[in-house]
Amino acid sequence: MTTPFTALERNILKAKGLSEQHLAALADLGVSGRADFASIGSCETLLELLPDLNTEVAARVLNWALPSAALGEPVPSALSGETQAGAAMFLQGLVVNSSDSTYCVHCQAKQPKDYSVGDLCLNCGLQAEPIETCYWCGTSGPGRFCRTCGAAFVITAELPLALLLRREGVAKDDIPAKIRAMGEAEKQVLWGRVRRSRR
Ligand SMILES: [Zn+2]
Ligand SMILES: [Zn+2]
Repeated sequence: MTTPFTALERNILKAKGLSEQHLAALADLGVSGRADFASIGSCETLLELLPDLNTEVAARVLNWALPSAALGEPVPSALSGETQAGAAMFLQGLVVNSSDSTYCVHCQAKQPKDYSVGDLCLNCGLQAEPIETCYWCGTSGPGRFCRTCGAAFVITAELPLALLLRREGVAKDDIPAKIRAMGEAEKQVLWGRVRRSRR
């Protein structure tokens, strides 16, 4: 089966979860390369074109295919100053997301199905997800994972704990799990070490 995609595009799309059948169907629809996804533009449209596609796969494909400007990606330099000051505010509004819905941290409005990380809230216009700072590489961004190094974010309140574990040589991917698995007492011990390290 041949499609107009380049070998690299095919491999990337398959890595995102598309099947040969999906690739062929996209080709039949007239999609012949990464640039054509810009015309599709949203998860919703992609799902209308490929109704049997998994929503998460569609989101991953569009996250890759669309220029980052179209996803409303924040400019890190403009945000980094706000991140520290805004951290407390974000914490108060922090909402636990269920796996398939995202709620705005500012106004709690439920975001639409085609919401993708970095989108602005349709209700209040602020970025729907909190901006977190990566304990590993220091990059700030919305969502649950660092877009620069792939680390899973820990909540801002526990960032100092993650930074301490990193200094102590804990592997990147082990840090969030380690913090989650800790009881209150263990965390208090760790906080004690964070405070001492600041002196
Ligand atoms: Zn909102
Ligand atoms: Zn990172």
